Amino acid sequence: MTDPAPHAPFAGRVVAITGGAGDIGLATARHLGRLGATIALVDLDGAKLEAARAQLQADGVPAHAWLCDVTDEAAVEATAAAIADRLGRVRHLFNNAGILGRFHPLLDYPTDDFDAIQAVNVRGAFLVLRAFARHMAAHGGGSIVNMASMAATGGPPNMIAYATSKAAILGMTQTASRDLAPHGIRVNAVSPAYMGPGFMWTRQVELQAAAGSQYFAADPAVVAQQMIGAVPMRRYGRMEEIPGAVAFLLGDDASYITGVNVPIAGGIL
Ligand code: NAD
Repeated sequence: MTDPAPHAPFAGRVVAITGGAGDIGLATARHLGRLGATIALVDLDGAKLEAARAQLQADGVPAHAWLCDVTDEAAVEATAAAIADRLGRVRHLFNNAGILGRFHPLLDYPTDDFDAIQAVNVRGAFLVLRAFARHMAAHGGGSIVNMASMAATGGPPNMIAYATSKAAILGMTQTASRDLAPHGIRVNAVSPAYMGPGFMWTRQVELQAAAGSQYFAADPAVVAQQMIGAVPMRRYGRMEEIPGAVAFLLGDDASYITGVNVPIAGGIL
């Protein structure tokens, strides 16, 4: 009897991941790498990027890194072209780079902070989406997963800019799925909430504690318990619980699925 073939549905395929040096980007890169993908990490933070690339290589994942600020249109275009030049056809994109920004109640929310978050989370996501979609349209199609958040629909207090930006990602995903279907490109979104441990969890808890609202306590440890108490599964999600959903939506098992948003949120709807 022969051994079963290894499960490598992404063998020979290139996946570009923005925010690839961050917690979720790296966990997803590792998972897709185990499924056979060649990974193109894109990130703004050079030191984290090189560390992530080296970690993946050490794990046996073919990984390459590009330094790029997703708010810089010329840099995004150049990066998409450079990845294709070096690695060939890019079949999949995880459009994941994003920032949480500052937390303030709406009445005090500074315009500059609002603009800065939209610049990365909305305009940056659009620039990346368009650049890679153009490449995919010219090279036989592909699939894209945009990173939204349960903040898009859950109404988290003190996060007007972030919630707005992630709601925009849901609209972007639906319209992109229509515009790109004729080009053989599927576009879906994932919406995690309360993932931890990690930078975003700690920052979110600390920022909500510092925001001084009626919704959360002033002690970050209590805020963490309050947040977990709002999750039906009564725990935060682990980073490793995101990549499987992304891989499913990017991969051929989801070949008739486009324009949807998948919550990854322990039962929060
Ligand atoms: P993270 O901070 O660990 O990773 C984000 C990465 O994006 C960082 O490596 C950062 O350098 C990069 N980045 C930021 N601005 C950039 C820019 N202008 N150009 C290129 N790269 C840039 O955070 P994470 O938890 O891995 O978050 C990844 C995505 O998931 C974000 O879009 C975030 O909003 C979203 N998200 C996170 C959670 C969570 O609980 N962690 C929940 C829902 C959604």
